[in-house]
Amino acid sequence: MMDYQLTIATILRRAEDLYSKKEIISCLPDKSIHRYTYDDFAKRTKKLAVALQRLGIREGDKVATLCWNHYQHLEMYYAIPCIGGIIHPLNLRLSPADLAYIVNHAADKFIIVDQVLLPLFEKFKSEINLSRVIVIPQMEETIPQDYLNYEAILEAGDEKEFDPFEKDENAAAFMCYTSGTTGKPKGILYSHRSITLHAMATLLGSVGIGISEKDVVLPIVPMFHASAWGFPYSCTLVGATQVFPGPYLDAESLLSLFESEKVTVTGGVPTVIINILHKLDSDPKRYKLALRTIVLGGSATPRFLIQAFKERYGILAIHTWGMTEISPMGSSSFMTSKLQQASQEEQYDQAIKQGFPLPFLEIRARNEMGFIPWDGETMGELELRGPFVIASYYKEEDADGKFTPDGWLKTGDIATITEDGCISIKDRSKDLIKSGGEWISSLALENALMEHPHVREAAVIAVPDTKWMERPFAYIVLREGKTVSSRELREFLADKFAKFWIPEEYEFIDAIPKTSVGKFLKAALREIYNAKRSSKTSG
Ligand code: ADP
Repeated sequence: MMDYQLTIATILRRAEDLYSKKEIISCLPDKSIHRYTYDDFAKRTKKLAVALQRLGIREGDKVATLCWNHYQHLEMYYAIPCIGGIIHPLNLRLSPADLAYIVNHAADKFIIVDQVLLPLFEKFKSEINLSRVIVIPQMEETIPQDYLNYEAILEAGDEKEFDPFEKDENAAAFMCYTSGTTGKPKGILYSHRSITLHAMATLLGSVGIGISEKDVVLPIVPMFHASAWGFPYSCTLVGATQVFPGPYLDAESLLSLFESEKVTVTGGVPTVIINILHKLDSDPKRYKLALRTIVLGGSATPRFLIQAFKERYGILAIHTWGMTEISPMGSSSFMTSKLQQASQEEQYDQAIKQGFPLPFLEIRARNEMGFIPWDGETMGELELRGPFVIASYYKEEDADGKFTPDGWLKTGDIATITEDGCISIKDRSKDLIKSGGEWISSLALENALMEHPHVREAAVIAVPDTKWMERPFAYIVLREGKTVSSRELREFLADKFAKFWIPEEYEFIDAIPKTSVGKFLKAALREIYNAKRSSKTSG
C-alpha cells in the first residue's frame, strides 16, 4: 500500500474538493450571523497559513489561541497544522495566572486573540513572552497599535504559495492542557495521525456518534477544551454543515440557533444540556427543532436527561466518556442488537453507562487483586492504550504514576466492564467513598438523586466518619420554587440502594461549584465542607 500520511491537510483538501458548497455558520460576538461556504473556508485557511509562515511560524512552532467557537477559530484549527505548526487553544475560563503558566510552559510563539477577549489577555500579557499578538477584529474600536489585525494579515496571504505539511503524520498538530484540578495543568500533544484516526472512530454510526454530510452540527463544547471533542475535524471530514455559537452558550441563545439553522446534532456537558431541557420544558411548543442527537460527555449523564429527551422530544441522547489524554472521546453508549430486544427500562440502564470503547482503543481494568474479570460487577481502575492515547505528557518526565510499566495509560477512573466490553464508570478514584470497607459510588447516588422531580443538581462527596471511616454526604440544588426534606430524599433512595449506601446528611445550596468546563468541582465542595466543620469545631 502507499505510504500515505494521515494529516490535517488531507482533511482540508477533501473538504474543498467534495463539499465546497456546504456552509459554516457562526454567531459573532455582536450577535450577527456570519455564513460562508467550505470553499471560502478552505481559501481563507490557505491564505492564513501562508500569512503565518511569512510572519515566521515554522514547523514545530506553537500558536496559542484565545477565542470562542467561530469560523476564524476553525480556520486556525487547520491553517496552523497545515504549515507544520501546533495550534494551542487556551481555556479562557482559567485564571490569568494559570494562563500565563500554560503559555510559558508551552513556549507559545504567537497568540491569536478575539478582540472581545483582549481584557482577559491584558491581565496576563506582562507575564508572558510572545513574538506576535494577532487580534480578530470584532468591535467598532480599532485594534491596539502594537497588535496585528487577523483579517489584514490573512488578506495579504497568497493562496498560491500554500504548501501543505504532509510529510509526517506523527508530528504534533494540536496542544491542550488538562484543567489542573489536581496540581499544575499538564500539557498534551495530539499528532496529525491521532486526530485523524480519532475523527474516523467518532464518526462511525455503529460505535461512535454517527455524523454524516446530511447533518447540521453545533458543538456547544468549547473549541478551547480538548479540541471540542474533535468535532471541527470529524465534521469537516464528512462535510457536515457546522454551526458555531460564539460566546452565547445560554439555553435560550442555543435553542434559537438550533431552530434557525435546523441543527440536527449537538454536544455538550450534562450541566449545559440540563439547562436546555429546562428551557424547553418551560414552553415545550415554542421551538420547532430538527435535533436528532445530543452527544453528552465530560461527566456522568443522569438517566432522567436521556429519558426526558427521548420521551418528550424524540431526541436521542448518546452518552460518551473520555478524557483530554485520549483526544478526548473514548467510548459511547449505543444500542447493540442484543439490547434492541430489551425492555425500555433496560435500554435506559444501558444508556447511562459509558458504553463501548471506540475502535482501536483497548481497555482493561485492575484492582489490588490484579486484572478484573469482565463480569459487570468487579470494580477496578480503567487502563487504556491505542493510537489516540497519550504516551507521555509534554515536558514531564515524572508523570506521577500515570502509566503502567507496560505502557498503558492509567485513567484514574474506577469502572466495571461487562463480558461484551461495556464500560460503566463508578467514580474517579479520588472521589470513591469507602465506607466500612465497602465501596460506594458517588456517581450512582448523584444520578439517582437527580431523578427526584424537585432536585436540579446533586453532588456527593466522602466525609470522614469515626465509625465507618467515610460516609457519603450530599449537596443538593433544588429546582426553582421546590422544596424537599432530607428524610424525603433518604426515602426516595431507599429502594434503589443497599442501606449503607444512603447518605444520612444532605445540605441544600444555591449552586454546585463547577470547573471551567462545567463539571462538578468536588474539591471545592470538600473545602466548603471542611471550612464549615472547622468553624463549627472552633465555635
Ligand atoms: P479533567 O481531568 O481536567 O476534568 P477531562 O475533561 O479530560 O479533564 O476529564 C476527564 C475525566 O472526566 C474522566 O477521567 C472522567 O473522570 C470524567 N468523565 C468524562 N466523561 C465522563 C462520563 N461520561 N461519565 C463519567 N465521568 C466522565
